[in-house]
Amino acid sequence: MHPIYDVAVIGAGPGGYVTAIRAAQLGLRTVCIDDWKNAAGKPSLGGTCLNVGCIPSKALLESSENYERATKKFSQHGIAVQGVSMDVGAMIARKDKIVETFTGGIAMLFKKNKVAFMPGRGSFVAVGQPYRIAVEEGDAAEVIEARHVVIATGSLPRPIPMAPVDGDMIVDNVGALSFKDVPKRLGVIGGGVIGLEMGSVWGRLGSAVTILEALPLFLAAADEQVAKEAHRAFTRDLGLSIRTGVNITGVKKGKRSVTVEYEDNDGAHHSEFDKLVVAVGRIPNTAGLKPNAVGLKLDGRGFIEVDDHCRANLPNVYAVGDVVRGPMLAHKSSEEGVMVAETISGQAGHVNLDTVPWVVYTSPEIAWVGKTERDLKAAGVDYRAGQFPFSANGRARALGETTGFVKVLADAKTDRILGVHIIGSFAAELISEAVMAMEFGASSEDIARIVHAHPSLAEAMHEAALGAAGRALHI
Ligand code: FAD
Ligand code: NAD
Repeated sequence: MHPIYDVAVIGAGPGGYVTAIRAAQLGLRTVCIDDWKNAAGKPSLGGTCLNVGCIPSKALLESSENYERATKKFSQHGIAVQGVSMDVGAMIARKDKIVETFTGGIAMLFKKNKVAFMPGRGSFVAVGQPYRIAVEEGDAAEVIEARHVVIATGSLPRPIPMAPVDGDMIVDNVGALSFKDVPKRLGVIGGGVIGLEMGSVWGRLGSAVTILEALPLFLAAADEQVAKEAHRAFTRDLGLSIRTGVNITGVKKGKRSVTVEYEDNDGAHHSEFDKLVVAVGRIPNTAGLKPNAVGLKLDGRGFIEVDDHCRANLPNVYAVGDVVRGPMLAHKSSEEGVMVAETISGQAGHVNLDTVPWVVYTSPEIAWVGKTERDLKAAGVDYRAGQFPFSANGRARALGETTGFVKVLADAKTDRILGVHIIGSFAAELISEAVMAMEFGASSEDIARIVHAHPSLAEAMHEAALGAAGRALHI
């Protein structure tokens, strides 16, 4: 017999599991329902992020980058390595072990915080107080009751009818994280974050990678100069073939390969691949929830409609993470979860979507927060830009990682920081200073007056901030 829960969280990705832990910490009787199963058919907490997203992709990026360092970069340091080889099976097993450790870690956190976990698919049965939620697991089904419901059901890869995923030759992120061998020829439809990260992994290990991107602009969401520098690094240094403005006209599967037909400015083409990754964005996942059973409102694109505090159209129902508007990022999902748990417990909660950092974990890394120059020009905002290259930074030279720069954009009148864009090593770590500065409403002068350790990559941020006032010291 289940008690009436204060909070039922549906989904245990970074949105759901964080909501559940925070709610339980605040003394709310909390249950979390999740239907994810691992390859062995066992429940595995952590959703997309831990099972087939952020964590496994970063594990493979690190392994493949180490391989690339050993084969291409160690010699600069006078280190001679011979007979370097890659055991793909060992790399995948390491990745799987990391995933297992983290998913198991969430189960322990649930126990520690007294979050009840129910494996299975949760769906609405009836509106009213308390809400009734059916939980189906295999042939078994039961109904639980909860005063508040938080939906954190995440997202799924957007399918394209022309290239249905078969998990073997045509794959999405799940398959791309588990190839048994390095494909000789790898095609990627979609030049977004997944395409670039997965293209980097397999490209470093020896695949001839072709990225087919529909938009005429490469990395359209990023700062234009960053995108240009990234394009140069990915094509020249990594050897990716990146085609933009592509219209896929056909995908034909043969016995051992798949042929993609497409058109671009140069005319019609066809390319043959051993594996094809489809990574053309993700769609909100609400089908299993039965939203119509209670009149839960979705927007025109299928996201659950919520206000700034993640409240849905039904009383005491909230939704967080990929299933609602805003960037589809793990940290955004988790912060929304904290906000909702605190709101339910009577505290004030807030998430500032304007300062959510973006990171692409390629080499060089790309990270940004706030507005791009394109955004500011379109909005008619008068701004100043300060920029500093890593080639003039001592730590970057010592690392042998001199590609890229930091760019700080500040309001021309008030000097308030409006955006920061980084391409270069450890951009993911460096962007935190910019996020913090923007959250505190800092000016570029504030960063310029802060003492930064020497020699450090962070000095490039310091110099870029100085540069916004036209007083950079080292360039
Ligand atoms: P999810 O993580 O998708 O979790 C939703 C959970 O709900 C799943 O377990 C699902 O099975 C379950 N569920 C769905 N419906 C039901 C139901 N009816 N009943 C019960 N359970 C249900 N983001 C980053 O910030 N950094 C990264 O480096 C990064 N890398 C990524 C790499 C890849 C390859 C991919 C695919 C994504 C990556 N992301 C990254 C995005 C990140 O994974 C998502 O933004 C994040 O997982 C969203 O969290 P969520 O809790 O909203 O949903
Ligand atoms: P994305 O939105 O980053 O990129 C999809 C790309 O596919 C876009 O550039 C789009 O123009 C292109 N596209 C769409 N339809 C196409 C078509 N028919 N033919 C060719 N190109 C087409 O999406 P994604 O790479 O699938 O990743 C999904 C989401 O997962 C990301 O938006 C991000 O939110 C999250 N993610 C984050 C990280 C990270 O934070 N480092 C890593 C991976 C994924």
